[in-house]
Amino acid sequence: MSDLTELYQALIIDHGRHPRNFCVSDHANCVLEGFNPLCGDRLTLYVTEKNNVIEGITFKGEGCAISMASASMMTEALSGKTVAEAQEIFKLFHEMVTEDSDKDFEALLGKLSALSGVTKYPARVKCATLSWHTLVAALAHSDKPVSTE
Ligand code: ZN
Repeated sequence: MSDLTELYQALIIDHGRHPRNFCVSDHANCVLEGFNPLCGDRLTLYVTEKNNVIEGITFKGEGCAISMASASMMTEALSGKTVAEAQEIFKLFHEMVTEDSDKDFEALLGKLSALSGVTKYPARVKCATLSWHTLVAALAHSDKPVSTE
């Protein structure tokens, strides 16, 4: 195992055990629930969006280490981004975990590329993408909870 793989696994374990931005936000204007019945992951996202800029994202919920780590890393990666930038990052992230692509995701996505190993475990893809699908729906001002089924 390379040092990088070990570093990335440590990152996922750390974020899974100690998720960042793990709280309810009172001033969020896009709040939405997401559920992954396949694994039992469940979360609520609190997004504060103003003039097409994501000022902050927090979340609460419970689930496996992959779903919690992915949500936690997403909240860090997307805070301060415009909605268009967030959608672009989501597209790249989705491609990274679902397709056999030879793009340099480490250069494109930084820390988020720690989750690239998920491609090898198709059952975990929904764990990794739950928070992202929920975010996209929240930004579209949907009030319908997201289910990965
Ligand atoms: Zn899961």
